[in-house]
Amino acid sequence: MLDHLSYKTPTPKVIHGAKEDWELVIGLEVHAQVASKAKLFSGASTEFGSEPNSNVAFVDAAMPGMLPVINEYCVAQAVRTGLGLKAAINLTSAFDRKNYFYPDLPQGYQISQLYHPIVGEGEVIVDMGPGVARRVRIERIHLEQDAGKSIHDLDPTMSFVDLNRTGVALMEIVSRPDIRGPEEAAAYVAKLRQIMRYLGTCDGNMQNGNLRADVNVSVCRPGDYEKYQATGDHSVLGTRCEIKNMNSLRFIQAAIEYEARRQIAIVEDGGKVVQETRLYDPDKGETRSMRSKEEAHDYRYFPCPDLLPLEIEQAWVDDIAATMPELPDEKKARFVTGYGITEYDADVLTAEAENAAFFEAVAKGRDGKQAANWVINELFGRLNKEGLSVEATPVSAAQLGGMLDLIASGEITTKMAKDLFELLWTTEKGQNPAEVAQKHGMKQVTDTGAIEKALDDLIAANPEQVEKAKVNAKLAGWFTGQVLKATGGKANPAVVNQMVAKKLGLG
Ligand code: ADP
Ligand code: MG
Repeated sequence: MLDHLSYKTPTPKVIHGAKEDWELVIGLEVHAQVASKAKLFSGASTEFGSEPNSNVAFVDAAMPGMLPVINEYCVAQAVRTGLGLKAAINLTSAFDRKNYFYPDLPQGYQISQLYHPIVGEGEVIVDMGPGVARRVRIERIHLEQDAGKSIHDLDPTMSFVDLNRTGVALMEIVSRPDIRGPEEAAAYVAKLRQIMRYLGTCDGNMQNGNLRADVNVSVCRPGDYEKYQATGDHSVLGTRCEIKNMNSLRFIQAAIEYEARRQIAIVEDGGKVVQETRLYDPDKGETRSMRSKEEAHDYRYFPCPDLLPLEIEQAWVDDIAATMPELPDEKKARFVTGYGITEYDADVLTAEAENAAFFEAVAKGRDGKQAANWVINELFGRLNKEGLSVEATPVSAAQLGGMLDLIASGEITTKMAKDLFELLWTTEKGQNPAEVAQKHGMKQVTDTGAIEKALDDLIAANPEQVEKAKVNAKLAGWFTGQVLKATGGKANPAVVNQMVAKKLGLG
């Protein structure tokens, strides 16, 4: 196992202000939509892209007298996510009403979990390159309802509302302010996404808004963060601003960068950062004020009288724990030690569980490094180029494995294998690699007699080349090239090289 505790911690990003150096402190509140067919408190569908207002139960529309009924499946997904983040699961949690008025929230409140979240403290290991990782502490995960959507750009005089999203289950994953730069923030969201996709608890589709983040940013002087770490005292850190609703890794980085510089300029000018909620404008590349920071009491939180406290049993949690898949960190460690591949390659191969499974099907019982090379460079490279996912690959793991066996047994050269791969991808789809190789006359010449004959002919016909090569050994490569050409690329280059050196009396 790779021991993440032995990893080096990345250096925090330093921003040079006009007067001093500054460091960033970042904490994220990630909203992950639970991958569930039904909403958190109703049976209405969660399908994306449905006709507006077609997935709305009476309770979602807040019809009088309607009561919420908890969806057990959503609760299980929150527990599963908590276990995936090595977090404490709270056997008793409770729902609260967070009251505010907005047209896309017919109830006039959002049902959330302020005081007693279902998941407590956990952690995420964020890889920042081979041997470098940041441990980000998770404070909590709570379950809550999503709001609907107001639409202002369909008509010049009217606004519309679509309640399809109203009441969809969200997991809000709150981190401690342990993230120290824009790249780390993006890598943190990517890691959460990866873990949840492995778990199947959130599809991670950021474009559809199924995964989005509120990004809290502050700046401090070098050394202040260490003081906070030693004492747990937030007040040594700078005042933070919260950038709402970011659903792109690229924009998260750009917004943090902009926001940090804005805050530094204020402080260096003798001003004070005002704690507030801001919005990022991707067209302008700026953040702008949306509203002043609201406190919990502004929302008049109180326990939701329509719902009993949520009691779950340890045995039920244990059942969920028993179905946990191998998670990215463990899989990566196993790939590095078990297949002898680099951490970098293991990162690429474990990005998605399906990719990792494909690699293992190819690598089992074969040379792991060679399998990794072929899977990453040839297969994934080609899939990327053609915009395909691994599920849609024209060349199966069994075929690729069969090809590697032909190389290993010396039946085909690596160059032939590339041609064979091309054939399997295009005109010989689904065929047996050994048969395709035979059909297309791909066979490595291992018969040294044939190679020797070709070389002897060359030497006899080119005495002046022989003399040159004897003076400058580098020129012997010409003979190797000519023999490979004469044998139609079917000879093994290493064998030819050896024979050339021997015949010319080199080395
Ligand atoms: P509140 O009580 O206002 O909800 P929290 O302390 O719960 O604030 O923090 C909300 C989010 O803000 C968390 O993700 C946390 O990591 C982050 N955060 C807290 N303090 C800072 C800070 N000084 N700089 C950046 N992020 C911070
Ligand atoms: Mg809080």
